[in-house]
Amino acid sequence: MKVKFWGVRGSIPCPGPYTIKYGGNTACIELRFVDPNRLIIIDAGSGIRELGNYMMANDLPRGPIKTEIFLTHTHWDHIMGFPFFTPGYIPGTKLKIYGPVSYEDNSLEDSVGGQLTYRYFPVRRTELASEIEYINLKEDQFDLGDGIILTTKYLNHPLLCLGYRFEYCDKVFCTAYDTEPFQNVFCTDLDDPSYNEAMAHEGDQAARAENQRVEEFTAGADLLVYDAQYTQEEYESSKIGWGILHVNMPSLRRSRPGPNVWPCFTMSPYELMSRWMS
Ligand SMILES: [Zn+2]
Repeated sequence: MKVKFWGVRGSIPCPGPYTIKYGGNTACIELRFVDPNRLIIIDAGSGIRELGNYMMANDLPRGPIKTEIFLTHTHWDHIMGFPFFTPGYIPGTKLKIYGPVSYEDNSLEDSVGGQLTYRYFPVRRTELASEIEYINLKEDQFDLGDGIILTTKYLNHPLLCLGYRFEYCDKVFCTAYDTEPFQNVFCTDLDDPSYNEAMAHEGDQAARAENQRVEEFTAGADLLVYDAQYTQEEYESSKIGWGILHVNMPSLRRSRPGPNVWPCFTMSPYELMSRWMS
């Protein structure tokens, strides 16, 4: 299993002198399985444009492109690169696009393919020559074939967002970004007229249980990708509820069992990623 990052930023692409080291593209990860010749892509942020160009030069000459794209969620920074993914325009390309759906009225196909309308883009969805299948995902475990097992976990974000855990040949690659600790959704202020002790207790238990499940989901990963959008101070002062972790997220760090590598991800477009990595 080989991992390559084609986009690591959150919110908006941010090219420029301050993002030279890690690039300015938004989320896109290539997961390459050499032996079964399998290519999995996680998220279709602006980084997928360059990945698509690489595939055109290196994969297409060996035969029609067949790949799976797993979207963590459909916020724009995670899908904005799709209209620029050249393999999607090539006859013979087969794409399976997986992702969670937050609103039944908006299908995954509408959310992703809907970018290709004249309102936003000079090419229409119907002009994509590839064969595209859209598949809705929920929290579950899946056998993807070739010995690849995928486990999905709902994270805490303003719309449904999935973490992905791929297991292959005793190695684990896991994503848990665009999330923050689950909070008690009920009132916990004893002086607030809406305070209800039973509900407050229940909300506390539910939040603890979900946070525990996220820790279990990430435990043992050989490589875990998570958020680095904020410092802990920034998060606690004004960013709680925005659905993004801070770089010192303690519960995830506690689950680290060994000499694993922890790339930070969905880095702020306004700051140097090296601020965290150094
Ligand atoms: Zn998001």
